[in-house]
Amino acid sequence: MSNNVLVVAEMREGTLKKMCFELIGEGKRIADELDGAVDAVVLGHEVSDKMEPLAHYGAKKIYVADDPALANYTAEGYTNVLARLIKETEPILVLIGASTQGKDLAPRLAARLALGLASDCTGFEVRDGELLITRPIYAGKAIATVKEETTPYMATVRPNVFTPLELDTSLAAQVEEIPADAGEVRAKVKDMIKEAGERIELTEADIVVSGGRGLKGPENFALIEELAQILGAAVGASRAAVDAGWKHHSYQVGQTGKVVTPTLYIACGISGAIQHLAGMKTSKYIVAINKDPDAPIFRVADYGIVGDLFKVVPVLTEEFKKMKAEG
Ligand SMILES: Cc1cc2nc3c(=O)[nH]c(=O)nc-3n(C[C@H](O)[C@H](O)[C@H](O)COP(=O)(O)OP(=O)(O)OC[C@H]3O[C@@H](n4cnc5c(N)ncnc54)[C@H](O)[C@@H]3O)c2cc1C
Repeated sequence: MSNNVLVVAEMREGTLKKMCFELIGEGKRIADELDGAVDAVVLGHEVSDKMEPLAHYGAKKIYVADDPALANYTAEGYTNVLARLIKETEPILVLIGASTQGKDLAPRLAARLALGLASDCTGFEVRDGELLITRPIYAGKAIATVKEETTPYMATVRPNVFTPLELDTSLAAQVEEIPADAGEVRAKVKDMIKEAGERIELTEADIVVSGGRGLKGPENFALIEELAQILGAAVGASRAAVDAGWKHHSYQVGQTGKVVTPTLYIACGISGAIQHLAGMKTSKYIVAINKDPDAPIFRVADYGIVGDLFKVVPVLTEEFKKMKAEG
């Protein structure tokens, strides 16, 4: 067993996701305490010229599995390649982003290797040579500290929780090609259909503007979208808005939706039910706009605006537009 941390770097459309650098930053901090290094592994096709940023953010060694069969993610193919690498290199810890892909991949990989897995983790601490991992449980009502009984330790990491190290373009990494045989893949990706328009991924967004039942109808989401556009934010929704058919489930924030950890979360016409809070409570700054001064959302909000969202949101949008125009 080495003292190295292995980060599974996820790509989307040939570009490394921002969360890879967050995982490398935290992975390096943990590895430093254990006198190890942080390494990364990239799976895909024609990716060899896309990996440099991993080195610039601190990866010491980059393993690359490059094969047409790995161009699109499949749980089986990626598990086959990664299980071989982990068995061979024996890292102390494997970090995978808690993205849709990571949440699909990590449990299968852990089961294949007969390892424990801590999911959606938000903190790591090395104490007396052991790794203690923190993760929210019971929809964020409590924080559990877990110690895995198997090694390599495995964890999926919540995006936007850790800060990447400073980019240093003078850093270089050793690149090693690894066997890219995906093996038998029973479920094949035949087509990837992109949603119309560019949509910022909710779970990775730095700013999220969400709308709830207070919007009164699907057409009024235009207000949320306009504010989001000017802020470069992703749009989210409460379950009430999703259940009413105003937005697709992929927009839902909360216990049965997505967990977001942006720097800024703006909740418009959302009451703040515990199940909604489970998906956004760990945002750095929360702004709530609600006409009811007793709405529970104000208990978690850093800034609260008691008022009619139909009046407040357009004013905010106008003000941000002006600020943007002024530079
Ligand atoms: C098992 C389970 C899982 C769940 N999972 C989720 C989940 O993942 N995500 C989620 O969001 N919910 C989830 N829920 C539902 C949750 O309990 C709430 O019902 C839901 O979050 C309410 O959505 P809302 O805040 O938009 O609506 P409401 O609770 O109806 O709140 C609407 C708010 O809008 C305000 N308002 C109305 N008009 C205006 C106006 N003109 N200006 C300003 N404010 C206005 C009101 O004062 C009110 O506070 C779950 C529930 C269960 C039981």
